[in-house]
Amino acid sequence: MQIAVGGFQHETNCFQSNPTLYQDFVTAGGWPGLSLGADIFAAVAGRNLAIAGFMDRARFLGHEPVPLVWANAQPAGPVEDQAFDRISEVFIEQLAQYPSLDAVYLDLHGAMVTDSHDDADSEFIRLIRSFLSRHFARPIPIIASHDWHGNVSPARIAQLDLLDSYQTYPHVDMAATGARLCDCFTRYFPRNRPLARRMVKTDYLIPLTAQCSLSQPMKGLLQLRAEIAAEFNLVLGFTPGFPPSDIAMVGPAVFAYGEDQRAVDEAVNRLVTAIHNAESDFAREEILTLAAAKTIMRDHVLGGGVKPLILADSQDNPGAGGSSDTTGVLQTAIELSLSLPLSLSPSQRRPIVLALFYAPVVASDCAAMGVGGVYNGLINGIKIRGRIAALHQGEFIATGPMWGDSVMNLGTMARLDLVAEDDSDLGVKILLASQRQQPSSQAMLRILGIEPKSMAIIVLKSSVHFRADFEAIAERVRVVAAPGVNLANPADFPYKKLRPNVRRGPNLAEG
Ligand SMILES: [Zn+2]
Repeated sequence: MQIAVGGFQHETNCFQSNPTLYQDFVTAGGWPGLSLGADIFAAVAGRNLAIAGFMDRARFLGHEPVPLVWANAQPAGPVEDQAFDRISEVFIEQLAQYPSLDAVYLDLHGAMVTDSHDDADSEFIRLIRSFLSRHFARPIPIIASHDWHGNVSPARIAQLDLLDSYQTYPHVDMAATGARLCDCFTRYFPRNRPLARRMVKTDYLIPLTAQCSLSQPMKGLLQLRAEIAAEFNLVLGFTPGFPPSDIAMVGPAVFAYGEDQRAVDEAVNRLVTAIHNAESDFAREEILTLAAAKTIMRDHVLGGGVKPLILADSQDNPGAGGSSDTTGVLQTAIELSLSLPLSLSPSQRRPIVLALFYAPVVASDCAAMGVGGVYNGLINGIKIRGRIAALHQGEFIATGPMWGDSVMNLGTMARLDLVAEDDSDLGVKILLASQRQQPSSQAMLRILGIEPKSMAIIVLKSSVHFRADFEAIAERVRVVAAPGVNLANPADFPYKKLRPNVRRGPNLAEG
């Protein structure tokens, strides 16, 4: 079969005031920039992306994948209409070049909000469906994969002939999801009638940091999901959703596609019941205040532990729309450093490193001064004095289970080793980049001369993805709530559009 493939991905934080512009889709960062037609093969080859896994599997199975458009931007505020319309138009123009298509596959995130469309993924699918129905005499199936954080809606399920989603967070299975979807598509299509399907939104939101699939209760729910899917021999999806999207259909969804409506219904109901029963387990997660984090940091440094303490500065995670430049934990680290006894032994004076501040102007100033210079200036309003210890420009290889040795480009990067007024070392190092990207690969620190496992404390602007590559080197991991737009507790978001009767977070008294 000839299958048109493309991707249009955004995860929208409606509480971030910086909008997402067309240019944000054009620029490459962790993933390739906007790519068209055959260029997409080279752009995504070998990467942990659903579209890459789908195309590889499609060719292996004897299909002909024809790439149309690949577009992905870092999570931020709503996508401007102009950007959405322009990319949708190019997508349809590319689609029009293939008059004998058999199917369309879309690599979507599933949590895109635009100025005009709360459910922008469904609007995008509607535009494609409308084009296909005008230009093809026979029905052309549209199938899609979603990110784990997609906010799935009834419209989405009605429009898509088949949907599947990642089953891991950290997302180590993106390419595998594309391959799995291609297998399912091949099994079910072509067919004369639509697959049976059902979708249920659960009645409470799950905070991002509690969604980690390496921890309970999520780990157990995913095991159960796999067992039910195997028992009923169908596609069973669970998307925990992206809480910072202020839309009616935000939050977790369970959906299934299969041959038999009764099996589909029962599979969904069983998983929904299990999620309902897990509510109080999701509520047990402890988030540190900055004051509590300072105590734990101090104890860790004074205790002289061998492995690092890792603090997740989750609320400023750029992967959830954070600006990636808030300084709450940085100020705490500086205060802690100034308060430590000078008599500490060398092993107790191992440094604190904070990654990764989005500070393009400071990074470029540092590059102009060169390694060895002393930078005096501001980062997001706070005074910084630091020796320029390392610089990097452009591409490097992102290692670890999520990135799988793929090319990353964060522009000009710099490392500042902070010093006091008398130039004495504070033992606090900050890493700067010119693109917003959550630190989810140790390579993002190593490229600036930091060996993560020899740090006392590692502060990462990430919620969960860092765990794939960092958890194994940590003595322990804690989440800290410092300033940022990715609030740890969804109950704190000033939602305006949330549907009625959904709890804004898991409740201890329930389940
Ligand atoms: Zn995600």
